[in-house]
Amino acid sequence: MTKTRPEWNEEVARHAEDLLALRRDFHRHPELSHQERRTAEIIAERLHAAKLEVRTGVGGTGVVAVLHGDRPGRTVAWRADIDALPLTELLEAPFASGTPGVMHACGHDGHTAVGITLAEILAARRAELPGTAVFLFQPAEEVLGGARPMIEAGALENPHVEEIYGLHFTTQQRVGQVQVRPGPSMASADAFTVEVRGTGGHGAMPHLSIDPITAAASILLGMQALISREVPAQDTAVLTVGQIVSGTKGNIIPDRAIMRGTIRAFEQSVRDHLVSRLGAFAADMAKAYRAEATTRFDYSCPAVVNHAKETEFVRGCAVDEVGGEAVTDGRVVMASDDMSLFLRERPGCYFRVGIGSASGVARPHHAPEFEMNEAGLPVALRVGLSVMRAALAR
Ligand SMILES: [Zn+2]
Ligand SMILES: [Zn+2]
Repeated sequence: MTKTRPEWNEEVARHAEDLLALRRDFHRHPELSHQERRTAEIIAERLHAAKLEVRTGVGGTGVVAVLHGDRPGRTVAWRADIDALPLTELLEAPFASGTPGVMHACGHDGHTAVGITLAEILAARRAELPGTAVFLFQPAEEVLGGARPMIEAGALENPHVEEIYGLHFTTQQRVGQVQVRPGPSMASADAFTVEVRGTGGHGAMPHLSIDPITAAASILLGMQALISREVPAQDTAVLTVGQIVSGTKGNIIPDRAIMRGTIRAFEQSVRDHLVSRLGAFAADMAKAYRAEATTRFDYSCPAVVNHAKETEFVRGCAVDEVGGEAVTDGRVVMASDDMSLFLRERPGCYFRVGIGSASGVARPHHAPEFEMNEAGLPVALRVGLSVMRAALAR
């Protein structure tokens, strides 16, 4: 059972139907990272209508909406990510994705709908609202490529944001559960590409070639030793190659092999070590096979680290809204989120809100069968309202 404070009940109930419709509309019309044009347009329209100051095209397709309360107070940001994933949805529902190959399989449709509704409810209370609420609708979270350009475009300035909050839905918790974890909460991510170059030739005469596939295979197997032999056992890290591309035919030795993968960690020292060692390891290993390897790191972001004071504050708000038994620390997750970049700039907290089924069986995020228990939407809205309202007056 969840305990609710009466403060938001009426407003949340009044907005519940619209919140659901909004989420389903975004779900029906998912857009890939950096292409969230329709989504951004709807956000801007709605918040313009609610009389917020709206800036569009912030760091690409980002939207910043500023709400000035009529009373003095602090400046606090709420961040919601808005992009979808390259997946074909398996769920059959009238609001299922209408765009083949694109799907909201992470819950960002819900984050967007909650962010808009949160802004609208606070805007309606402008007369009694202290301070300034800044709503950051961030594109391209799924490629960890949206927070940085928004920060560079000045999303945290004019007005100067003092603190930042946000939430991510999780199917791994039931509706009504909230996870608020101090310190490291989500892993850092570094995407890499190892290119192994050899010399192509006939598959029957490998001695006349330098085979990049054999070299790449050895690099692939060997690189796990960086985790098992070089990362302190009390720390954690993951190194995964998710893509190997090479060759055209079984009897031709190609001239190159490409491996793409990701490194996840929590400690910055572990992250730095793996990033610096992977390139050297691949190059030295390739040399042993007479090949050459170069490693490139593409997008990357640090671990999500929640600030102690702000995390305690969010915990208090969540307990008020859903009751003490429903609020836990939760575990660290190896997934990453570029909310980390905002949290490096300003103190704040990124917490998780349950959208799991009552049975407890839920498909993970990023799966084509991903499904949100929509009863979690008003819970997220209530906790978000509580956090923003209290933070502005703190
Ligand atoms: Zn995701
Ligand atoms: Zn996500």
